[in-house]
Amino acid sequence: MSGVEDRPYRYPRRDRRETFIVAEGTRKSMRSNKSRDTSIEMLVRRAAWAAGMRGYRVHSRLVIGRPDMVFSRYKVAVFIHGCYWHGCQSCGRGRIPKTNVSYWTEKIAANQARDRYVAEQLSAQGYRIVVLWECEVLGDLPACVGRLRALLREHP
Ligand SMILES: [Zn+2]
Repeated sequence: MSGVEDRPYRYPRRDRRETFIVAEGTRKSMRSNKSRDTSIEMLVRRAAWAAGMRGYRVHSRLVIGRPDMVFSRYKVAVFIHGCYWHGCQSCGRGRIPKTNVSYWTEKIAANQARDRYVAEQLSAQGYRIVVLWECEVLGDLPACVGRLRALLREHP
């Protein structure tokens, strides 16, 4: 949004608004993906709640990587990954778009590197990690909840 800030104050209002709209347009794809991730997260949380799971925190700042759900009592961290942003290997959504290939490749590779780092750190702290991919959640939500439930049951 620096373009908006840089403009002198006396510029007509309409002009500034147009700048804003253009900037919004360039962010559109990014934002729509983000909101989709969030809605997948909501699907999982609602299903987990309906299945009687309680006592989890959402995006806890106290846990590295701010997992989408953390069951501290069981030391289970849940990550719900958008296939696109995290580079899913098992569905078409993980494929890099044909334009700006290097930009997306780098961005997704950085996300994957971060995912690996976070997983290593959490494992070292004794966490068990569940990664639920967007395509799994959309394809078979009960199976995802089942995997989560199994982990919580395994707890000594
Ligand atoms: Zn996928």
